[in-house]
Amino acid sequence: MAEASVDLHAHSTASDGTLAPAEVVRLAKRIGLCGLALTDHDTIDGIDEAASAAEALGIDFLPGIEISCQYPAPGTMHLLGYGIDPRSDVLRELTRRLIEARDQRNPKIIEKLNALNVSVTMDEVEAEAAGGVVGRPHIAAVLVRKGHVSSTKQAFDKYLGQGAPAFVDKERLTKEQALRRIDEAGGITVLAHPVQLRTQNDAQLERVVKDLADLGLAGIEVLHSDHDDIHAARYARLAERYGLIKTGGSDFHGHNKAGIELGYCRGRRIPREYFDGILERLARKRDRATA
Ligand code: AMP
Ligand code: ZN
Ligand code: FE
Ligand code: FE
Repeated sequence: MAEASVDLHAHSTASDGTLAPAEVVRLAKRIGLCGLALTDHDTIDGIDEAASAAEALGIDFLPGIEISCQYPAPGTMHLLGYGIDPRSDVLRELTRRLIEARDQRNPKIIEKLNALNVSVTMDEVEAEAAGGVVGRPHIAAVLVRKGHVSSTKQAFDKYLGQGAPAFVDKERLTKEQALRRIDEAGGITVLAHPVQLRTQNDAQLERVVKDLADLGLAGIEVLHSDHDDIHAARYARLAERYGLIKTGGSDFHGHNKAGIELGYCRGRRIPREYFDGILERLARKRDRATA
């Protein structure tokens, strides 16, 4: 019998994944996971559906969210909030604001694309997102479908990525704001895919992690589809040095991100103890709150 395994980073149609929240849970069950966290960008709209499906199928479930923070290019800093209370007012206000920032950005991207003679409309993009939070992968999907590019990757390289001609940044929270909001919403915060910080060396990476740890960071995503074994070992060492838990997730997006399978990070399964580590931190936080 294989070791019990989980996935702590997955997206659904509530943001830019292609499977509905309940479908992500069903897939998790089918591949034998015992725990799952749904971590859509800027929204908790998929949480209720996923939680019900998980309960029905007997999979442990953690509500989550992924938030992009201010961080110098070419890096990006994404924070994962786990155990947030979907009913919290803080969270409602936060997601409202994050989605407003996207609503400001998306038409500007479309304008830039049109100026580059790439015909695409906001209606087409919204249809692609089908009511979920609109992200660049939806724009990329429309560009692929209309034959402007041959793949999502090409859409980002040629038009949508940082530094490309149709790139538009969105208003982002500072890391302090994101950590505080997640804390106030009852959750704990984990640094997502640290490789995407694109730090130049170990010292710089360590400063970022120490800084976040001082602000109350609970964990680091050690296993991720973008991490090789050397990255994973480096992040695990940092976790130990700063008393942070280790977590891991595939960053599954359905067919919006080719080559990523739910439950796997480059062929590695994610151990159950990573899920339990989060539960333990959440329990500790609740104990402190009631003490
Ligand atoms: P957004 O939230 O609209 O800024 O879009 C972020 C999403 O785009 C994330 O799911 C990323 O995985 C995806 N993404 C960002 N850069 C790239 C890229 N170069 N190639 C493919 N997907 C990307
Ligand atoms: Zn995404
Ligand atoms: Fe991310
Ligand atoms: Fe993600």
